Amino acid sequence: MKITDIYREKNLQKKSVISLEVFPPKTDAGIETIYQTVAGLTHKPDYISVTYGAMGSLGRENKTLEIAEKIKKEYGIETMHHLTSINNNPEQITEILAEIKAKNVQNILALRGDLPKNTDVTGCPDIYHYAHELITDIKKTGDFDIAAAIYPEGHVDSPLDVENIEHVKRKYDAGANFFISQLFFDNDKFLRLNDYVKNSGIEAPIAAGIMPVLQTSQLDRMLFFGASLPTRLIKIVNKYKDSPEDLQKAGMDYACKQIDDLLARGVDGVHIYTMNKPFVANTMMDRYL
Ligand code: FAD
Repeated sequence: MKITDIYREKNLQKKSVISLEVFPPKTDAGIETIYQTVAGLTHKPDYISVTYGAMGSLGRENKTLEIAEKIKKEYGIETMHHLTSINNNPEQITEILAEIKAKNVQNILALRGDLPKNTDVTGCPDIYHYAHELITDIKKTGDFDIAAAIYPEGHVDSPLDVENIEHVKRKYDAGANFFISQLFFDNDKFLRLNDYVKNSGIEAPIAAGIMPVLQTSQLDRMLFFGASLPTRLIKIVNKYKDSPEDLQKAGMDYACKQIDDLLARGVDGVHIYTMNKPFVANTMMDRYL
């Protein structure tokens, strides 16, 4: 099933689409944990997305497609395969798309991927420079629903602290059917972007990306992603930094309050970054589905 059809159905029911993100673990045991968690969910998410080659690991040999296929085939939950162009030239992308189609995965989150340090993407003639070029090629196949990334506080490489609407428009015009946001902790930043995009004539659903803060070691990555930390969240981290269990509870509570508020304001969707933690998936699904 294409995810746009899920959006259409949920829209008719006046509900938001609630989805989860997992990443391919390095070990077989880690992968098994994902399957066990998915099998054990009392309430199923609308779809699950599987990341690809994130944080510098190369994509093809990872297990993105295997996991996306199995969750769909064996557990009956729709899936989305993330795909980055940074490690693949157009010929490789053509092959990968054929593999994804052959496994009956119908949804792709099309991304450029992060540039390796000291690399200037415009100097690499064989690869796609930006996500909209990848989207154009995926669209040509006519086989997939395509999602694209959007940044409530601007992309880390961009000098602006708001999303550049021209770049969103290019992805939309190239064929993006819906958007998923980078993680954020201040709902007003997401809602400002949401309104801005919709008022710019871009008629595509936008999902809010939510990642619970569960441990202090996550904070470096949050900064890498360009997410600002509101004072309220900094106070929580400071208060519980020496008590991992309490921090986890307070971090989940903060994320749930964010989601409650977003749902009350009628966002199109909420995409939850589970970090492969079974309790995050279980808690969120029990609460929101
Ligand atoms: P683009 O849209 O190409 O944007 C990249 C930069 O170029 C931005 O600064 C943008 O403003 C600028 N830009 C865009 N178009 C133009 C143009 N025409 N001219 C000049 N500048 C332009 N990474 C992974 O490796 N694997 C994953 O699975 C993964 N999943 C993600 C999921 C979500 C929901 C999000 C938000 C991000 C994810 N990422 C993942 C990270 C993503 O790959 C990085 O943020 C990457 O640096 C940018 O990808 P993009 O698709 O947004 O790129």
